Amino acid sequence: MYSCPNCNEETFSILDKFKSYSFKPAKCVKCGELASSKGCNSALPVFVGMFGVPVVLFVAHILKSWASIILALIVIVLASCISFHREPMAKVNIEKAKNQYWLAFYILLIILVWLMYDGFLR
Ligand SMILES: [Zn+2]
Repeated sequence: MYSCPNCNEETFSILDKFKSYSFKPAKCVKCGELASSKGCNSALPVFVGMFGVPVVLFVAHILKSWASIILALIVIVLASCISFHREPMAKVNIEKAKNQYWLAFYILLIILVWLMYDGFLR
């Protein structure tokens, strides 16, 4: 069980934590406050994306093998599971979460538009 950031009671199951994110938080059964796993707020996925993926692709290219990519995927999954289990549940600010999701949406939209101009429309 994981403890609530508002009342410090252990009220969230691993399933609650897994299903919750800042836009769709879990509700504490003791105090009724909202909480979520931080998940994508962690710096790890960003770090892995910016540095890990190019390095892994480069190594795979040099070795001419998929083994390094598979190994990297296993490490990423394990690291995600460990950080998921270790990080505490976080208090949820719905307004802030909404803004974050809109920002992510716009960034994805810009990337999509860029890909379409660069790849499909030429
Ligand atoms: Zn609580």
